[in-house]
Amino acid sequence: MTENWIYLDNNATTKVAPEVVETVRDYLERYWNPSSMYEPALQLARELDAARATVANALGAANRDEIVFTSCATESNNAAIVGALRAAIKANPKRRRIITTRVEHPAVLEVCRRLEKDGYPVDWIGVDSKGALDLRAYVQALRPGETAVVSIMHANNETGVIFPIEKLSRIAKQTDAKIAFHVDATQTVAKLPINLGAAPVADSDRGAFGYVDMLSFSGHKIHAPKGVGVLYLKRGVAFERFMIGGHQEKGRRAGTENVPYIMGLAKALELDLADLPDASARIERLRDRLQAGIEERVPYVVVNGKGSPRTPNTLNVAVYGAEGEAILALMSANGVCVSSGSACTSGSLEPSHVLTAMKVPSGALQGNFRFSLSRYTTESEIDRALEVFVEVVATIRKTSSKWDDAKCEPIS
Ligand code: PLP
Repeated sequence: MTENWIYLDNNATTKVAPEVVETVRDYLERYWNPSSMYEPALQLARELDAARATVANALGAANRDEIVFTSCATESNNAAIVGALRAAIKANPKRRRIITTRVEHPAVLEVCRRLEKDGYPVDWIGVDSKGALDLRAYVQALRPGETAVVSIMHANNETGVIFPIEKLSRIAKQTDAKIAFHVDATQTVAKLPINLGAAPVADSDRGAFGYVDMLSFSGHKIHAPKGVGVLYLKRGVAFERFMIGGHQEKGRRAGTENVPYIMGLAKALELDLADLPDASARIERLRDRLQAGIEERVPYVVVNGKGSPRTPNTLNVAVYGAEGEAILALMSANGVCVSSGSACTSGSLEPSHVLTAMKVPSGALQGNFRFSLSRYTTESEIDRALEVFVEVVATIRKTSSKWDDAKCEPIS
């Protein structure tokens, strides 16, 4: 049952909106293959096309054909990086370098590691202690005629820190128009404005993604189901398809379309965007309320990414003198769902690669975890989560070998 849980792990996945559940159910009953040629299937294909237009409009993409449906953001990221790299090498064998950051989700990080192992040079760009990208290293890494793909996330899934994609993509294109610029926007679609049709003139043009060639995101982070994703491929961008097979998605991604979930994703986007500025502002107020409460009531807590622009829903904290896993377990025992670092790496006791790149002190690294909110989060849930958190940290610190409870400070 889900009713009694306070769900604050929305960067891992989100509740499927009730309206989306209804849409999916309707289309599950209409089981036709949209590639077939009889009338019910042709009608379904027209509706699929309308969903494609909805997604294109939501992102400001010029053409609906620029939207390719996939199974998840991981697939979209794999396809973008490998597909653009292959196409670049075909056109010019010297163009085989990749640029990415040290704080990407494993869905980019591991792809780049594999490509590096296979002999394609990767420039790994670091971040500072606030999570901001090393711009100088980025500019130096861009090599005209050699860099094939840049893949940089819009916002970090662990800390919520936002990278200035508007500026980074403009610099890349000004350096060499043939560089394919890919953005993993899994944590920002339907949270921050994104307009793929607007070229940034000034660095302050938030969301002007006109220099972006490829963009990925996933349905299950925006109140649609798991198992459906999107890859935006700008018209004309050199790309070799990744999923090989049938002719679906105009030959760019083989496999029969998951029509019910695609329709659900389009519905979810519509719902999210109808309410975007207001919902974002409300979520941010709740996040800030939680953050202020923690900073006021729990000593020796660090808010990771504070001081950098962050997504409105994310709060990443590191607690001295308490293990993240222990906090997580006790929070769960008290009905609050949070995550330690990224859901994909929690379960391992490896410190987060994101916080390691930010050089978070080792004393705080083990006590790290993340609250992430959604438009369904309420003020009373936030207040209850804060109470639970304060009690849980106090309880764990009482018996922690890393905490001096009498002095109320960490043991170094
Ligand atoms: N990229 C980012 C930034 C993410 O946060 C996630 C999931 O947490 C992914 C990619 C992978 O998404 P999916 O599970 O839909 O493949």
